[in-house]
Amino acid sequence: MDTPTAGQPLLAHYVKKILAAPVYQLAVRTPLQAAPALSQRLDNQILLKREDLQPTFSFKIRGAYNKLAHLSEAQKAHGVITASAGNHAQGVALAARELGIDACIVMPESTPELKVIGVRSRGAQALLHGASFPFALEHALKLARESARTFVSPFDDPDVIAGQGTVAMEILRQHPGRLDAIFVPVGGGGLIAGIAAYVKYLRPAIRIIGVESEHSACLQAAMAAGEPVMLPSVGSFADGVAVAQIGAHGFAICRDYVDQVLTVSNDELCAAIKDIYDDSRSITEPSGALAVAGIKQYVARNAIRGQTLVAIDSGANINFDSLRHVAERAALCGASA
Ligand SMILES: *Cc1c(COP(=O)(O)O)cnc(C)c1O
Repeated sequence: MDTPTAGQPLLAHYVKKILAAPVYQLAVRTPLQAAPALSQRLDNQILLKREDLQPTFSFKIRGAYNKLAHLSEAQKAHGVITASAGNHAQGVALAARELGIDACIVMPESTPELKVIGVRSRGAQALLHGASFPFALEHALKLARESARTFVSPFDDPDVIAGQGTVAMEILRQHPGRLDAIFVPVGGGGLIAGIAAYVKYLRPAIRIIGVESEHSACLQAAMAAGEPVMLPSVGSFADGVAVAQIGAHGFAICRDYVDQVLTVSNDELCAAIKDIYDDSRSITEPSGALAVAGIKQYVARNAIRGQTLVAIDSGANINFDSLRHVAERAALCGASA
């Protein structure tokens, strides 16, 4: 390690938490898989971190389990409450069942049905409230104040961030060789904060690049303002990242350790879903394809060649019926462009 900087104690704090996170009680070590067709087309080595293969089909199980495992016995006895666009909800529901904790989850009314079913089938109570995530969040915080339940943030919590950071621990162990950049989808910033903390502590030369939907680019807005700001509106095609304001804990890391933030359009996401399908025969939800869409944009704009680039394929929770729309858009905007 070279000279410690002002931020090193913060990174060291998170690295310790990441190394100690008991996520493998529930989460699995997912493959870091080559994407041969995409690699050849882009003239770079593209690797997919297959977080869509987790038990709840997204990485959220890592942060949720780590948070719940760290609650006191009294907190566990009083139960938990959370707000989620879906994937965190399923993570909390499964982690709560595993640890014998009662869970109540507030989801926006627009949440895909399979995510609601995913919560209820894991024994948690699902309340549908509000047009989008910020309204569901407000309601969950109100219910938390009125009850003894502990609120479990989907992203703005050091234990959640540390749980998500285990993704980076796996990547560096799975790929000890040359690695130029890791592309991370960004919603509320928990995943990218955990990844940035771990990677910048151990291998600071690896670039950490956030990728946001252009309809919920709250990290980019915060970077420009120098502090978290609330977006006036948020689009929910990429429902897993439809967040209006970056989390404060995550931003404290992202501000100094995220090298760049890109935004992509819904059409770029549809094209990336097809690219991932072509290479892996797996279907990704729109948020799950952000990183691949970001890599394509980054390579094209900067004429990058011969690098090793990792994309976090973060989730697969998409309603089957939505695939028609995705396929149509991908065909229109040319997935191989
Ligand atoms: C939650 C989520 C993200 C973004 O994670 P944050 O920690 O909120 O930034 C990305 N992709 C999927 C599939 C998600 O569920």
